[in-house]
Amino acid sequence: MLNIAIFGPPGAGKGTQSAKIVEKYNLTYIATGNLLREEIASGSKLGKKVEDIIQHGGLVSENLILEMLEEHLFSKQSTSGFLFDGFPRTRVQAYMLDGMLMKINTKLNHLISLEVPQQLCIDRLIKRGLTSGRSDDNEKTIKNRLIEYGEKTEPVMNFYKEKGIYRSINGVGTIEEIFKRIEEALG
Ligand code: ADP
Repeated sequence: MLNIAIFGPPGAGKGTQSAKIVEKYNLTYIATGNLLREEIASGSKLGKKVEDIIQHGGLVSENLILEMLEEHLFSKQSTSGFLFDGFPRTRVQAYMLDGMLMKINTKLNHLISLEVPQQLCIDRLIKRGLTSGRSDDNEKTIKNRLIEYGEKTEPVMNFYKEKGIYRSINGVGTIEEIFKRIEEALG
């Protein structure tokens, strides 16, 4: 199995590059943000619990994320690999991912980190907000998302640096240029 996580601040282009990675390497895409938005759209119990948190740019609790992910992971374990987008977002989630993958006898091979200056992320998200219909793509929530990222998510990088699977990618450029850098990093 080839298992990859794509990492970076909101607006770094994770979703865009994910689509290309999934296609080229034939991976199962697991994006916690998308899964949560589906839960909200369906009006499920979980969706109701997380709606407010997401709207304000906070992080959903570890328990809810774990519950939601385990279901998806175990039902798709015959795949040739996973691409995780938006997860892990905290150190606890990094340990959770290790545990889940261990249960299906595999592990994370690469953490692709898209490096994009903060102001560029903000500009991209505000622009996306005009058409995305995402309630969290507004200036105030974007600020909170970036604060949460800096405080809780960015430190997760060190966990993967220590493991030797951290791959830093310059996330500024055209979609194709950035994808080429990712392909090179994956070897
Ligand atoms: P972005 O990377 O642009 O912030 P996402 O779609 O990954 O967008 O996430 C949107 C929101 O969903 C986050 O701000 C957070 O509230 C929630 N969320 C997504 N993934 C997680 C996660 N792994 N843990 C906690 N909350 C999450």
